[in-house]
Amino acid sequence: MCGTCGCADGGGQGGGGPRITGFTRPPGHPHGGHGHEHDHAGHGHDGHDHAGHDHGGHGHTRVSGGGLDGDSVMRDSVPAPAVDGVAGDGETITLEQKVLAKNEDLAALNRAWLAERDIVAVNMMSSPGAGKTTLLERTIRVLTGRGRPVAVIEGDQETTLDAERIGGAGGSVVQINTGAGCHLDAEMVRGALTTLAPPAGSLLLVENVGNLVCPALFDLGERSRVVIISVTEGTDKPIKYPHMFAVADLMIINKIDLLPYVDFDPDQCEKHARSVRPNLKTLQVSATTGEGLSGWYDWLDERAHHPG
Ligand code: MG
Repeated sequence: MCGTCGCADGGGQGGGGPRITGFTRPPGHPHGGHGHEHDHAGHGHDGHDHAGHDHGGHGHTRVSGGGLDGDSVMRDSVPAPAVDGVAGDGETITLEQKVLAKNEDLAALNRAWLAERDIVAVNMMSSPGAGKTTLLERTIRVLTGRGRPVAVIEGDQETTLDAERIGGAGGSVVQINTGAGCHLDAEMVRGALTTLAPPAGSLLLVENVGNLVCPALFDLGERSRVVIISVTEGTDKPIKYPHMFAVADLMIINKIDLLPYVDFDPDQCEKHARSVRPNLKTLQVSATTGEGLSGWYDWLDERAHHPG
């Protein structure tokens, strides 16, 4: 897990934990409904610094405020990887299990919170550059045009560029910057939900940090998981990164408008994916041209009727 790459230590430019930045205000907010308004970085929803304080030397990071119930939680740090690369280090494995167990507990809280509000959350994962944000922009325009409220949690290591794009498409959005972290976790999503406050009955799309490895391990409390692969990647990605495809409920092959120009076999890619996840639902689309996206919108509609 992430202990092996050290990302669970948080960090980023200037240190500290993840940062959550609010953009478009939720519907009903007196300033809401139109694009990027002002930057809330640096102060939490409740006025506290929710970005986490580094209590270095204590072996943990305190993350205060920003939680759905206003509590504070403790997150154990994962030790840096051993230089000698010895596999099976007992202490490291124990701490990794503790991190994942705490994440599972927080994910369960998120799932319950979302279920109470009839919010369908979909965790979208891919390599960087597969087209997640482009797909989200188009999805927001189409679904909001149909009267379906869509809220987005954006995850990137740095910048608010994608959140600005989502806000420009008309979605309510918050940006989580993970610093050195290579994935979102349930605790970050808890803080983001407090800021975002998605309306009851809405669709919540979570764009995870671009990475086919660690995001597969961290339950966010979502209802469904989508993995996106683009035709500019290798046909064999599903068998090179099987854990991601094994946890996915849907695989989207994106950028099919580029198929004439690249060496990519979508049928073989689907076979590879089903070798690690039998009966995996797959779609072939172009988020740029819109080809194949009716199946994506239908799948999203079905999520509302498939609890769990
Ligand atoms: Mg993106």
